[in-house]
Amino acid sequence: MDDTIGSNGLVKKSEFIRIIIDALLSLGFGDIAATLEEESRIPLHSNPIKQFLELLKNGEWDRCIDALQGLELRERDDNAARVLLLEQKYLEFLKVENSVDALSTLRMMPPLGVDAERIRELSSKLMSGPGEDTERSVVLEKLRKLFPPAVIIPERRLEHLLETAFDLEVYECMYHNIPDSDLSLCSEHRCEKHKIPSETVQILEEHTDEVWFLKFSHNGKYLASASKDKSAIIWEIDAERKLLVKHKLVGHENPVVTVLWSPDDRQVITCGENEVIKRWDVNSGECVQSYERNGVGSVSCGWFHDGTGIIGAMEDRRIYLWNLDGTEIEHEQDQRAQKLSDVAMTTDGKWLVSVGKEPHKISLFDRVTRAERVIEEDDMITSFSLSKDSKYILIDLTTEMIQLWNIEGEPNKFYGFEGHKRKRLIIRSCFGGYEESFVASGSEDSQVYIWHRREPFLRLRVLPGHSGAVNCVSWNPTDLHMLASASDDGTIRIWGLDKKLN
Ligand SMILES: [Zn+2]
Repeated sequence: MDDTIGSNGLVKKSEFIRIIIDALLSLGFGDIAATLEEESRIPLHSNPIKQFLELLKNGEWDRCIDALQGLELRERDDNAARVLLLEQKYLEFLKVENSVDALSTLRMMPPLGVDAERIRELSSKLMSGPGEDTERSVVLEKLRKLFPPAVIIPERRLEHLLETAFDLEVYECMYHNIPDSDLSLCSEHRCEKHKIPSETVQILEEHTDEVWFLKFSHNGKYLASASKDKSAIIWEIDAERKLLVKHKLVGHENPVVTVLWSPDDRQVITCGENEVIKRWDVNSGECVQSYERNGVGSVSCGWFHDGTGIIGAMEDRRIYLWNLDGTEIEHEQDQRAQKLSDVAMTTDGKWLVSVGKEPHKISLFDRVTRAERVIEEDDMITSFSLSKDSKYILIDLTTEMIQLWNIEGEPNKFYGFEGHKRKRLIIRSCFGGYEESFVASGSEDSQVYIWHRREPFLRLRVLPGHSGAVNCVSWNPTDLHMLASASDDGTIRIWGLDKKLN
C-alpha cells in the first residue's frame, strides 16, 4: 500500500510529491524540483522515461523510437508515438535541407499506418520547407497525451486540480455573485446572501409618470428608461456609481414602451405606444431617424444582432424590418397571435424571436431559410427575454409563472419560477448577476423577486421599497452588484449591496 496523506486517505503521497515536482519544473524552479526528488526519494519519472526524455531532447530519434519499447504503452499509443517521432525527425531533416534523409524517413511511415493524405501533406513540405512549428517541446506535449498518467503526469496537473476545486466551490455557492478575481486559494469559498443586490442605493425621480421599461447598456456604463410620460431617459453612471441624467429623449406623442441599446451602445431605439419607433444618438441625445409604416402604429421594437437594422412589431400584429436609413427590408412572416410585447434577434443573427401564430407559442424564425422553431407553453405569453449568449429564454406567462427554456438546438423546457404577482400588466423578468446565474422579476405587489436560475424553488430575495407595481428589472451586465427596477410609482430604484454587511 502507498503512503497516503489527508484526512480521508485518498491522496497518495508519491503522487502528491510528483505533482509538486512537476509544478515546480513548469514554474522554472528546476533546482528546487531536483532537491525535492532527492530528499523525498520519489522520482518524478522512472529511469526508462528519463532516458527517453533525454534522447528526445537531444534529437536522437532512432534511439528514442527504440526506447519506446521499455515504456509499456498500449499498442495503439505506441504506434502513434512512433509516428510523431518520425514526423519530427523528418521535419528536422527538412529544416537543415537534408532531403535525402528526409525522404528515407518519410518512407518508414506507411508501414505504421500513416494515411496517404498525411504522407502527401508531409511530402509537399519537401518543396515548401517545414513551415509549421518544429519545436521539440511541442512533440513532447503531444506525446504526453499518449503516455499513461502513471508514467508521465499530464501537463499542468496541479493547476488543473486547483481549477476544478474552484469550479466546484462556485457551483455549490448558491449566492455566488463576485468577480472571479475575488476568489482565493487560501480559504474556503462561500458567498453569503448579502452578495445579492438588496438595498436601495438610489431613487431616480426624473420621470413624471409610470416607468414601464429600463435596460442597462451592454458596457454597463448607462441605463435607459422609458415612461408613460412620453419620454425616455439616458442615465450615465459616474465614478461613485451614482446615476445622473445624461439626456431626456423627448419627441414621442404617446407613452414610450421600450428603449433598447444598439450592440455598440452608441444609439438607442424607442418605441412609442401605437406610434413610431425612433433612433437616437446617445452622445448628443438627438433623434436621428424614425421608422413607421403608413397608418400602422408600433408596439415594440428590437435591434439586428449587428446593429445594421431595426425590427418593428406593429399594431397589425406583423413584424417589419428596416435598414438604419429607414428603407424597408422584405420580410414575410405570418401575422402574430397577439399584440407583441417583445421581438428580438439572437446574438448570432440567425433567429428572429417573437410570440407565435398562437398566443401560447414562441416562434424562432430563420429569415434565410424561413424555417421556424416553435416553443409551446401551456398558457398565454406576455413577454420574454433572451440570455446574453442567446442560449436561454425566459418566458413570462399570464399564470404568474416565468418559464426557463434552453433554445440551443431543439427547445428544451427547464424550470418555472413563481411567487411574483401579475394580474393585468406586462411584468418583465431578466437574467443577471455572475454568469447570469440569477433570474429577477418585477411584480404587481410592488416588490422585486430574485431566484437562482438552477434552483427555482429557492427564492433568494424579495425586495420591498416601491409603492406601485414593478414593471421591469435590469441587472447591470458589468457590475454584478447593481440592479435597477422600474415602477408604476414613477420612480426607478437602483439596488446595491447592503453596506452594513459588506
Ligand atoms: Zn460564491
